[in-house]
Amino acid sequence: MSVLIFIDQAEGHVKKASLEALSYGAKIAEQTGTTAEGVVLGTTSEDLAALGKYGVKKIYHINKDTLNHFDAQAYTKAIAKAVETAGATIVVFSNNVDGKAIAPRLSARLKAGLVAGAVALPETGSGFVVKKNVFSGKAFAKISVATPIRIIALNPNAYAIKAGEGTAEIVALDAAVEAPKTKVVSVNKVTGEIPLSEAEVVVSGGRGLKGPENWALVEDLAHALHAATACSRPVADAHWRPHHEHVGQTGLAIAPNLYIAIGISGAIQHLAGVNRSKVIVVINKDPEAPFFKAADYGIVGDAFEVVPKITEAVKKLKG
Ligand SMILES: Cc1cc2nc3c(=O)[nH]c(=O)nc-3n(C[C@H](O)[C@H](O)[C@H](O)COP(=O)(O)OP(=O)(O)OC[C@H]3O[C@@H](n4cnc5c(N)ncnc54)[C@H](O)[C@@H]3O)c2cc1C
Repeated sequence: MSVLIFIDQAEGHVKKASLEALSYGAKIAEQTGTTAEGVVLGTTSEDLAALGKYGVKKIYHINKDTLNHFDAQAYTKAIAKAVETAGATIVVFSNNVDGKAIAPRLSARLKAGLVAGAVALPETGSGFVVKKNVFSGKAFAKISVATPIRIIALNPNAYAIKAGEGTAEIVALDAAVEAPKTKVVSVNKVTGEIPLSEAEVVVSGGRGLKGPENWALVEDLAHALHAATACSRPVADAHWRPHHEHVGQTGLAIAPNLYIAIGISGAIQHLAGVNRSKVIVVINKDPEAPFFKAADYGIVGDAFEVVPKITEAVKKLKG
């Protein structure tokens, strides 16, 4: 019996979301009197043993380069093998793009109950109840899971990374991984930017910025704060900004520690992608803009006057 955590990588490095999942899984193991173990797929440049500081005692490593490119079917089979080897009764994923693709497949394969989008530790007093976001983050639901194996996909940024001391034992695991049914033929990557889904701070612009020629306003503030940039959908639709920056119901859902919205009205479809942010700051010249209702801090003012002043102040503060 153990808690098994999927340790997700990007180009051989463990993702921040996985460190959250590790810390979360380790706490569940402590709560349920079991041990936390991890599983890594593909070759890696990480010191896996050092991940023990997040509370995992053992890491199963299926070191096959056929697993270096994400393939949901191949990953599901490999993780199922690790679940069987570990005798895991709880499996933890990050509810990121990879976790969203694998967790439901593993759930079907193992006939295991799945809670996707968990935001808190399970209540394990009597039964196993997990709190999750529903209706695009506008409400919570508590889900009771009664299957022998339970799968939890933890929302990114919902649980703080906790590092202590310790090293993990690395166990090489051999799983018969058949060649993926799909093949990656090319990858076009955006380089030099902070990935939006992993960013702690996001500066986002809307139609209030009038046109792409004014985006230096957003970029300068983002640069000063070491933040990623994002935008509302009409901005991406008008090709002012690339579509991978579009956040909301039909774009990326993010949960940074700080989300700064500049010239964005706060339509419900936009909020659906950003309302899990820890702190929301809204800059809008219309005091009636709906976004102010969801904001922790608001500035009523013209972005073209307010934002350069904030950027200057941040630069001064950071020296
Ligand atoms: C099915 C569906 C799905 C959708 N999905 C998404 C989605 O995923 N993401 C998304 O963002 N939208 C989505 N939308 C669109 C959404 O409904 C809104 O139309 C959109 O979010 C509005 O974008 P905006 O706030 O940038 O622009 P606007 O609504 O035009 O708002 C611009 C804001 O800028 C302010 N402003 C103007 N000038 C200044 C200035 N100088 N200084 C400061 N403030 C200023 C204005 O007061 C206004 O509040 C979706 C819509 C539908 C129907």
